[in-house]
Amino acid sequence: MGIDIDKCIGCARCMQACKTENDVPGYPFYFRTWVERYVIKVDKSVAVNTINMGFDESRDVILEKDVMRSFFVPKLCNQCDHPPCVQVCPVGATFKTDDGVILVDDKRCIGCRYCIQACPYGARYLHPETRVADKCTFCYHRLVRGLLPACVEVCPKQARVFGDMKSIASPLGRFIRMNKLHVLKPSLNTDPKVLYANLDGEVN
Ligand code: SF4
Ligand code: SF4
Repeated sequence: MGIDIDKCIGCARCMQACKTENDVPGYPFYFRTWVERYVIKVDKSVAVNTINMGFDESRDVILEKDVMRSFFVPKLCNQCDHPPCVQVCPVGATFKTDDGVILVDDKRCIGCRYCIQACPYGARYLHPETRVADKCTFCYHRLVRGLLPACVEVCPKQARVFGDMKSIASPLGRFIRMNKLHVLKPSLNTDPKVLYANLDGEVN
């Protein structure tokens, strides 16, 4: 997946569509994808909030005069090529498909949370009802039917781009060709498959 930071307006439609599509619990602290608002203040300090979809009205208010610039960063499972979550699962419930998507077999998962702790991107949570690990699958159930992930389909700004990374004709192939790309936490060598354009150096 490609994400163009300059296009995201923080509307949270992707977050809502993901919750609906994937039966993610409605509470504000369970997400398969979420959007962070970064505020770089005049004094050079950085404030980060996850868009709260109207749940939490108590977060810090930052005065306009203190803001140097702000932008939104959509996040989700990076579908790492070298995924720490797969390495630590004691029962093989977390695995990589032949086409490179990291999935959780909820019949095998014992809810031990090792993968949740191992993910350096905070992409996983324990589902409060099923008691198994849950996270973004790129909407794998849609991909196998030739559909786009729900977040990509609903984004009104085309900030999210999906396709075959190896195909230069795909939307993602074009995105890769046309942009200078970054990944999150590159020093960890997880080799993420979520690629960002126009990513600020303050984002981690
Ligand atoms: S982002 Fe986290 S959950 Fe996703 S593949 Fe990487 S380590 Fe696993
Ligand atoms: S739907 Fe698109 S523009 Fe809206 S928050 Fe998500 S990525 Fe950003």
